[in-house]
Amino acid sequence: MTTYARPLLRLLEALEKLPGVGPRSAERMAFYILRASREEARQLSQAVADVKDHLRFCEICFNLSEAERCQICQDASRDPSILCIVEEPKDVLAIEKTGAHRGLYHVLLGAIAPLDGIGPERLKIDELLHRLSDGTIQEIIIATDADKDGEMTAAHLSKLLRPLGLKIT
Ligand code: ZN
Repeated sequence: MTTYARPLLRLLEALEKLPGVGPRSAERMAFYILRASREEARQLSQAVADVKDHLRFCEICFNLSEAERCQICQDASRDPSILCIVEEPKDVLAIEKTGAHRGLYHVLLGAIAPLDGIGPERLKIDELLHRLSDGTIQEIIIATDADKDGEMTAAHLSKLLRPLGLKIT
């Protein structure tokens, strides 16, 4: 049985680890990269390296950030008493685009998904409770996704937060 050369196998292996990429699409991507110019391939690998080297999660809200604290957490004009809870950094961007939220965020970095073995302990919930402990935050907006996992996460959070006497919407 013939097989691909080792460098190509390594690329296929790496691509197949990406979410939603099976063996066939990994192969398509790998051959696209092989045919691409050296410069184009370099830009791709540089972009991958750059997000790892220059982006991190905000130490307060777990939004993506280039510094220890993200721009939103550093913005003194935002209302620190209102906290919007979302699943992913991309949700922060989507809500920011609407301009409807003037408070801060907390990114859970996921949702409760029993089928994928993701329980509440895998999300940034302890960090959330810690943030709530100093009493600055008065109002919570739970903005998890409208799917099953998102709703389960929202239900879990409401149960957890209700005894704290905050306004929850
Ligand atoms: Zn932040």
